[in-house]
Amino acid sequence: MDTLYQCPYCGEPDALDLESDVDMDSPGDQVFVRDCSVCCQPWTVTVHVSTTGTRSVTIDR
Ligand SMILES: [Zn+2]
Repeated sequence: MDTLYQCPYCGEPDALDLESDVDMDSPGDQVFVRDCSVCCQPWTVTVHVSTTGTRSVTIDR
């Protein structure tokens, strides 16, 4: 399921397909880089997966 996140560069919302990039069975921080589909700038996406399977997403430049 895609969720919309705001691009830190152009401010446009863009969908992030976390299922293909994040291993939900591995608690901890997972970082990957993904280009904005609007302005093509690289997002640094940090996903924190807790031991209970809850994830929180942070997007930085
Ligand atoms: Zn953008």
